[in-house]
Amino acid sequence: MTYKKTTVAEDIWGQSGRHSMTCPQCKGFLTVVQVEPIYDPDNAYTPYRTVVECASCSFRMVTESFTILGGIKNYDNEYIEIGSWGPSGSRVISRFKHAISESLLDELKKSQELVEFLVVNDHVVQVIG
Ligand SMILES: [Zn+2]
Repeated sequence: MTYKKTTVAEDIWGQSGRHSMTCPQCKGFLTVVQVEPIYDPDNAYTPYRTVVECASCSFRMVTESFTILGGIKNYDNEYIEIGSWGPSGSRVISRFKHAISESLLDELKKSQELVEFLVVNDHVVQVIG
């Protein structure tokens, strides 16, 4: 089995302490390990079985993650809205909690650049590309 280790956001989570993605046991940094895709033909996105691990203690959580390609429609302190496309090509707006810095969100909203958002446990935790 191959483990793809994503360099998730230690600094993002660290600097935005108000979001609950730091280790609940020791407040250490969490890293995300994507393990394997979960095949679901009805889902527009490919979810990955995902392990979230603490770098400092034995805390470990198994969850799902996936990526969405889209652009920022709107954001506030807690939520972002991502404009993307459904399986039939129709526009879809998705809303998630996030742990992304405001300066990056502002930049993406202005540029309307299409990027991939990594979503873990219903939180957008990283912007890829
Ligand atoms: Zn910990």
